[in-house]
Amino acid sequence: MNDSMRRAAAILLVILGGASLWWAGNGAPASASANDAMVATIAAARERAAANDARLKPASRFDEGGWIYVHLEGDPGAMGYQHGYLLAPEIEDGFAAVSAGMMHATERNWEFFRKAAHEMLWPKIDAEYQQELQGIVEGLRARTGSKLDVDDIVAFNAFEELPDYYVPWLNKQQKTAKAPNLKSPGNCSAFVATGSWTKDGQIVMAHNNWTSYRNGERWRIVFDIAPKSGYRILMDGFPGVIASDDDFGINSDGLMVTETTITQFEGWDPNGKGEFVRARKALQYAGSIDEYTKIMLDGNNGGYANDWLLGDRKTGEIAQLELGLKAHKLWRTKDGVLAGSNWARDPKVLKEDAPQFDPNNKESSPNARRARWDELLKENKGKIDVALAEKMLGDHSDTAQEKEEANERTLCGHVDGSARGVKEWDWQPYYPGGAVQGKATDATMAKEMRIMARMGHPCGGDFLAKPFLAAHPEYAWQEPYLRDMKARAG
Ligand SMILES: [Zn+2]
Repeated sequence: MNDSMRRAAAILLVILGGASLWWAGNGAPASASANDAMVATIAAARERAAANDARLKPASRFDEGGWIYVHLEGDPGAMGYQHGYLLAPEIEDGFAAVSAGMMHATERNWEFFRKAAHEMLWPKIDAEYQQELQGIVEGLRARTGSKLDVDDIVAFNAFEELPDYYVPWLNKQQKTAKAPNLKSPGNCSAFVATGSWTKDGQIVMAHNNWTSYRNGERWRIVFDIAPKSGYRILMDGFPGVIASDDDFGINSDGLMVTETTITQFEGWDPNGKGEFVRARKALQYAGSIDEYTKIMLDGNNGGYANDWLLGDRKTGEIAQLELGLKAHKLWRTKDGVLAGSNWARDPKVLKEDAPQFDPNNKESSPNARRARWDELLKENKGKIDVALAEKMLGDHSDTAQEKEEANERTLCGHVDGSARGVKEWDWQPYYPGGAVQGKATDATMAKEMRIMARMGHPCGGDFLAKPFLAAHPEYAWQEPYLRDMKARAG
């Protein structure tokens, strides 16, 4: 849409909204300043008119404790519109930070990602999510006059899978010369426990999100989604993205879902269905561990390959779905604990989907955290509840050095403090990334659709962008996007 068309559309909205403006019937303004005033008036009027849209009626937003809560309700198009409208400033800001990171890492331009979204991902997206994504664009444009279109939003929704799964696969296919060293990310520390492991014998689930601080500071949305079909969802998430994506969510039928990624995963199926679509669909439609598994496997494209940690509060059963592309495995128990810190454990998955990963290197971040989960969970067997889980998410015990030190090997990750970085994910020394927020819930809370959530490092430590960038000029390219992460109270 060009500017004059956009203006015409804006004026049309003004009329529909019932506002009366000075230029109505008077023709074009005479001077540049009058033109500026008109643009500003149009923007204000567009926002007013859009706010009167009937689709927004069931939706709401409030900001608290560093989080932005949004309630979305209705048919897919309306929920998308609500999402785009209520989070418009955050979507524009998040898109700028995320797209800059995608281009920087892959050395590909944005047009490349738009094309991948349009040609490869879009045709396989279920109609209801296509409508929701289109609705996001419509709501966003109505609020801010954004120029982003549906290809931008789809590529953005796939920000965890296109750069680190599709592009390395493509570079290999095309034998790209001097291809950047792209690695699947190592996101998160998490566990799910049940039976004799927890204080009340029911399920407890906890997760902290490991990502770049650049993106992580923006991972502050709590989505409360009441879709026309499927179950109600409560999940954390990223503005503009229809799946939780760091993955912590519950649904009204009793399913509890989180995950950690598989380090050094390799593989992509261009004919598969985007991970962000399958993950959203599974949280919306699965009422059991089996249904969840079935939806995740349907059209598995290998993108954002995870160890899914699941709980069914109706039965007290927990499960781990290690979802590779060539291989996968499901473990389940009604009395046990399943933890994740970015390592695969099934020999077949390791061999076929993550062949470079060394499960025996005790000094790597995934394995050191694995050892710490083992220790910490065993020590607390029978005592685990939400309060204790929250404390565990802020743990700084480094099992490789056998000492307390916040670094890349601790459950609460602080890679910016590590001269080692994490080579398995191609995070260079002092990479500004680590645990950016934490969440926990249990079966009782999940029944009431409640979760505990804390923004910033789960330990309560601050990250300050300015001194970091002064000390580490190699990350200067992030300067426009990197912000302070001030820890919040729990
Ligand atoms: Zn910490």
